[in-house]
Amino acid sequence: MLLTPHTLVGIAVAVSVKEPLIAVPTSFFLHFLGDLVPHWDFCIESEEGKTDPYYPLKVIADLSIGVGIGLFFTLLTLWVIKDPLLSINIFLCGIASVLPDAITGPAIFNKEKKGIPYIMMKIQHIVHFPARPPWGVISQILVSLSCLILILHSLELL
Ligand SMILES: [Zn+2]
Repeated sequence: MLLTPHTLVGIAVAVSVKEPLIAVPTSFFLHFLGDLVPHWDFCIESEEGKTDPYYPLKVIADLSIGVGIGLFFTLLTLWVIKDPLLSINIFLCGIASVLPDAITGPAIFNKEKKGIPYIMMKIQHIVHFPARPPWGVISQILVSLSCLILILHSLELL
């Protein structure tokens, strides 16, 4: 899945499970469950050998939106809702939810077939369920919207 829906899943966990010791590992493991949802991502084209000159830009855009959403809810709960513990939980869960992809990152660019990034890449390939647009995009919109509704409802903003 793209980083943005992964981040929203992490935030949804953070607002639902107040205990960081449970919420943070749950967010991490839900990353793999999220990748089991049939989805489209930038890797599909590159795995088929197509060279997309905008690949790095697309990844940066996805990363920026994910980080932006994570920071938005971290700061919203800190400054507006004034719940520092929830804010920390959201921050940590947001990071944990995208951590598997961050760990995998070096293995994509480094051809060495060993180390933690390579092992994580292998694990991610097993649980990865690619799907073409439109369904591979619609599935992620549905996951993102469900999480957003849950987040806003939990924060009593909806
Ligand atoms: Zn992943």
